[in-house]
Order: sequence, then C-alpha cells, then structure tokens
Amino acid sequence: MSHHWGYGKDNGPAHWHENFPVANGERQSPIDIQKKSTKYDASLKSLSISYDPSTAKTILNNGHSFNVEFDDSADKCVLKGGPVDGIYRLRQFHIHWGSCEGQGSEHAVDGVRYDAELHLVHWNTKYGSFEEAVKHPDGLAVVGVFWKVGNACSGIQKVVDALDSIKHKGKQAAFTNFDPTGVLPASRDYWTYLGSLTTPPLLECVIWIVLKEPVTVSKEQIDKLRCLCFSDENEPQCCMMDNWRPCQPLKSREVRASFQ
Ligand SMILES: [Zn+2]
Repeated sequence: MSHHWGYGKDNGPAHWHENFPVANGERQSPIDIQKKSTKYDASLKSLSISYDPSTAKTILNNGHSFNVEFDDSADKCVLKGGPVDGIYRLRQFHIHWGSCEGQGSEHAVDGVRYDAELHLVHWNTKYGSFEEAVKHPDGLAVVGVFWKVGNACSGIQKVVDALDSIKHKGKQAAFTNFDPTGVLPASRDYWTYLGSLTTPPLLECVIWIVLKEPVTVSKEQIDKLRCLCFSDENEPQCCMMDNWRPCQPLKSREVRASFQ
C-alpha cells in the first residue's frame, strides 16, 4: 500500500484492510439496501433535526473530500429521535461523488447507486467529545442524503460557490452563516442500520440514517465538485472524484425502515 490511503488503484478501498483490519469487520459501511429485506419498525421515532446557521465555521479540502465544519461546543445543531437515544451534535458534513452519472453514492438501493451522497456527521454528547464518541458502538449518527442529477439545489449553492477557494488538499476557508437544513429532502423517511465510518480508520461506531428521498442537484453543481483536487498545490493535479467506498457485506445485520 502506498504512503497514505486514498481512492486510487494502489491505495484504494481494496487495500484499506492492510492498515485497517477492521475493514473486514462485522458492521462495515456502506451497504446495498435491499428493499425487500428491510423491516418496517413501527417503534422507530421520527427524526428531530434542528440546525443553527451561526455555528458554521470552515470549509476544508482534506484530500479525500471536503468538510464543512461546525462549532460543536454547545447543543446548537442537534439530531434527536429517529433510531437514537439522547442528543447528537453536528460536527461536519461532506460528500462522496462519482466521475460520471450513475455512480458516486456509497449506499446503494436495490443495487442502484445515486450520483453522490452527502453525509451529516453527528456525535453522541453523552461521550463528551467527538474523539471519545468514535470509540463506542453508538458514538456517531450519520445522516446520508442521496443526490440525483436534475434541477439545481439552491440549499447547496453557497457550498458549491466556496469550492474555488479550497481547490487543493490542505486548503481551508471561513464558511459562516449556513443552514444545513437546506440540503435535506422534504421527506424524513429513512432506513437505519448499525455500521462504520466509510473511510479509514473505518471505526464501527455509526448508527446510519439513510434518507429514502434523494435531493436533486444540477449537473453544473456536481461538475464543480469534480474540479476539486485530491492533490496539494505542489503535486501533479489529480481531480477529486470517485471518492466512494463500494458496498460491504451485510453479515448478520438488519436494516429497519421508518416507513411502510
Ligand atoms: Zn462520508
């Protein structure tokens, strides 16, 4: 395996187990959600999501994707209800996307991939910090939102416009006054299962909440993501795309649906 993990032939998902053996673990993500084998669970609560735009802080190209990061020092952007107990705070969101239409999402539904997938990463406040939370099986709650090319999504445009300033790995910029509610679909119907981070260290600490309804974004919007670089300024340019992990075995897990 080359110096650092990535999505290339020599350091991509097929190699991650060499440095992160949990890659072959019992609750890895993403998965293919097979509708026929999901189970409607009437006891699942509805999702309660409340975001405060004033907590948006920075946007950062980390060489794998880009993160929009939030001030998580207080209960201002919180996820409650749904499949989780207690209060989870938003720390960041990021996106996985393809090099062309028809691929890019991490989760699949009945074997079909969407064009991209946005992940809103929240941590369980009972553990006191994000760093501590990832050591626990219920440490994170990640909301996955599928993207499908169609009409533009006005709620994401401010993010798209900020990408020019973080083209290369390691670049960051201030990113304030942003409401992530605008990147969610109208319906809050979801599938939920126990899984992992989809990037190294692949920790098995995530309660996944995958929203059923995709949002549409325009081809122009998703093309702007493909103008980012995996590489830093001093390396040969390498376009950021196909930064998604393939589906992992479900093993003995169950996928529950909040809807019939
Ligand atoms: Zn992700």
